[in-house]
Amino acid sequence: MTGLHIANGKDSSGAAISLSITNGLISDSNASLPILDADGLTVAPGFIDIQVNGAYGHDFTEDPASMWRVGSRLTEQGVTSFCPTIITSPPDRISAAQTAIAARPESYRGAEPIGLHIEGPYLSKAKRGTHDPDLLISAAPERIDTSGIAIVTIAPEIPGAIGFIERLVAAGVVVSLGHSVATSDETSMALTAGASMGTHLFNAMPPLTAREPDLAGVLMTDPRTHFGVIADGIHLAPEMLVLAWRSAPDRLILVTDAISATGMPEGDYDIGGTPVTVDRGAVRNAEGSLAGSVLTMDRAVAVLMETTGASVKEATDAASLHPATALGRTDLGTLAMGARGDVVLLDETAVVATVVGGEIVFCNEPDRLGGMPHDSEI
Ligand code: ZN
Repeated sequence: MTGLHIANGKDSSGAAISLSITNGLISDSNASLPILDADGLTVAPGFIDIQVNGAYGHDFTEDPASMWRVGSRLTEQGVTSFCPTIITSPPDRISAAQTAIAARPESYRGAEPIGLHIEGPYLSKAKRGTHDPDLLISAAPERIDTSGIAIVTIAPEIPGAIGFIERLVAAGVVVSLGHSVATSDETSMALTAGASMGTHLFNAMPPLTAREPDLAGVLMTDPRTHFGVIADGIHLAPEMLVLAWRSAPDRLILVTDAISATGMPEGDYDIGGTPVTVDRGAVRNAEGSLAGSVLTMDRAVAVLMETTGASVKEATDAASLHPATALGRTDLGTLAMGARGDVVLLDETAVVATVVGGEIVFCNEPDRLGGMPHDSEI
């Protein structure tokens, strides 16, 4: 049996908490297990990033197998699960990513890839952002191979989309609406067909207007949905983040939409083969469109708190419980008994330690390990 006892912390509401993880799952508190000292720290469910294109010099669309190298470092951001995101690309990229996610290295330690997020090619040309227009497909396919896929982002107004959504949902895939000019009616039809999420609210969709709520307005007001927001201080004006937050604090999901340049010096990079430039925290393509971010998940939590006044619990839930709920993963995003032992220890919003399945995969304060080997067999 392997185990870990996280002692003397406070939960995201500020109440005292100690918890144990045995055989990868949160279990009865057992202080005889190796200790991780959380004194003075917030103990929250590990973060789940459902939209991340790459980081630390690697791009998942270009090199899907790099998800394992990147995943081992996402723990620095408190991330314990993630959906490697493949943007519009030739079909061989998606199949390469399906092969890569199934090939978990035996010795892997890091954030768990919990399913691919396929963003495109079934998107609106008018709201393509940095997606290659020559690779966009203007009608939904009969079916696709859904192995390894957790989320598909689609524009619901393209021909055949409704049937495609129904088939994806029947196959257990979460359908997210985005890169779209869908009207309110088209959006509602997609939700009735089983779509249950929106991709980076307010970005790559028409703006709210008085009589045309369209995709953004429906996502904000329809209780059947969750929606992602990129809270990097660049993709959304502060007022728009406040608006999104107030409209649905329980349905808002923090995502990074991070690209390979995340955690790297600013300069010229590539996302899915498209050249982009990172300057003063913004990633733009040659046309000046925003093209992903260099946001980290711990920073997104901090920005949400600073901008909206969200509490620690509300902000950390937006990075853990909400994405888990959107994906139907009751075993993630919670510190309840029996949940996966994925935990982040925070000093304010700075990540001190990250635990995946009961194993300490990141800790920048070694004194907290209590002098016992954290990976000892007992
Ligand atoms: Zn996008």
